[in-house]
Amino acid sequence: MNIKPFWQNFINGRYVDGGAGRLAVTNPADGSLVAEIALADAADIDRAVAAARACQKSGVLSAMRPVELGRLVRAMGDYILAHKDEIAATLSLEAGKPLWEAHIEVAGAARYFEYYGNQAETMEGKSIPLGAKYLDFTIYEPYGVSAQIIPWNFPLEMVARSLSAGLATGNCCVIKTPELDPLTSTYFAEAAMAVGLPDGAVNILCGYGHEAGAALAGHPDINQVVFTGSVKTGIAVATAAAGNVVPAVLELGGKSAAIVMPDADIDNFMESLRWGIFFNAGQVCSAMSRVIAHEAVHDEIVERASALAQSLDVGPGIERTEMGATMGAMISDGQRDRAEGLCRGAVDDGARAVTGGHRLNREGSFLEPTVFDRVTPDMTIAQEEVFGPVVSILKVKDDQEAIAIANGTDYGLVGGVFTRDLDRATHTARQIRSGQVFVNEWFAGGVETPFGGYGKSGYGREKGREALLNYVQTKNIAIKM
Ligand code: NAD
Repeated sequence: MNIKPFWQNFINGRYVDGGAGRLAVTNPADGSLVAEIALADAADIDRAVAAARACQKSGVLSAMRPVELGRLVRAMGDYILAHKDEIAATLSLEAGKPLWEAHIEVAGAARYFEYYGNQAETMEGKSIPLGAKYLDFTIYEPYGVSAQIIPWNFPLEMVARSLSAGLATGNCCVIKTPELDPLTSTYFAEAAMAVGLPDGAVNILCGYGHEAGAALAGHPDINQVVFTGSVKTGIAVATAAAGNVVPAVLELGGKSAAIVMPDADIDNFMESLRWGIFFNAGQVCSAMSRVIAHEAVHDEIVERASALAQSLDVGPGIERTEMGATMGAMISDGQRDRAEGLCRGAVDDGARAVTGGHRLNREGSFLEPTVFDRVTPDMTIAQEEVFGPVVSILKVKDDQEAIAIANGTDYGLVGGVFTRDLDRATHTARQIRSGQVFVNEWFAGGVETPFGGYGKSGYGREKGREALLNYVQTKNIAIKM
């Protein structure tokens, strides 16, 4: 496939160069250049916010009948699907993920536009009884300019998640894409033009976090910011937004645990483990990075997890076209080295690498699929997000110990319980301190189900109807009759 050598930012309906020059986007499987992209500086962010503001002030989106706006949003998803092959191939090259995984991400991105396009006409206010002399009702109004800062692990789906909801509620959006894999987000600009959204409704810029990202988060003329990324950056973004009294949604990291009870269907659990920690090479905020196994099933799980990790065929994502037991590169050497360092630390702390723990002996940002046992809850490997294909298995004697360990980190994004006993599942799910609990299938749920963190995993919810409330403000109108 021919990939164009230079990609630009998209401001006010036009492609433009960046004030900060250009950035090389490389394939983490072999370090080769995929393409260059324009790098935005703070002045570009100013222009994008001004374009979004002008579009919002024109009232063109908010004046539209919601069903019509919803159709435009849905049509953006159709555009993405119509170009799925070129988008998936480019994504696989820039992010390192297997081509079949990239296809899943493209379909997932399109699905957000379908879902939120359909929701556009459902945002109804309510009337509040105040007696015979008054008529009182609420309406939802868009915030105005929605700023969205995106991480690299699922660049397409993360843009789609906030852009679709932002547009469906009538906001004009400014998106700061991730430096490591920004190319495919350009297709949302193409989609916006193809469906006929007005200039300024969608602005997409790649830039460095400390420069373009910080300029956007702290911009005095944004009305709302959605940030997905690390805790450290999330705190900086929320602090900058607070300086302008701008609300923030923070979707941050996790150290999520699956509790496996003695009566669990272990075949079923292994399927969840395969997706939970090795999909996207473990670079998933809601990854199953800890397994808390009851002592009755612990040894079997360790043995089977090790066999599973060893069965994965690891190599360049673009060559892995068919869904199967394959894994691609991590996003960069830096991320790979960080994960490998955490693995070394785990061994120093007394954990056992049952399999893996090292980089692959080949070019590219590859880490071996890794399984640790003899992990104790206080170890760094059990507390810190690795953001790689590394699972830690901890052994417990009973349910209360399992729940205490599951809840024993700063995070609280998701959790899981594997058991055939519904009472036990429900009881445990209620006690897990996280925004979502999976029972008997990791990643159960979908675009329809609210997603977000407890604790340092963030606040606010994305996905589901609940997320729409992030993008609107309630106005109450009280009429004296
Ligand atoms: P990151 O925090 O390094 O970067 C995220 C984004 O913030 C990037 O676009 C970056 O350029 C930008 N940024 C960096 N510094 C900034 C600043 N000072 N001001 C404004 N923006 C700035 O995170 P990452 O490494 O890209 O992503 C990995 C992290 O994201 C992991 O912790 C992962 O768990 C989390 N994540 C969470 C979710 C979720 O929905 N909860 C989803 C995906 C990823």
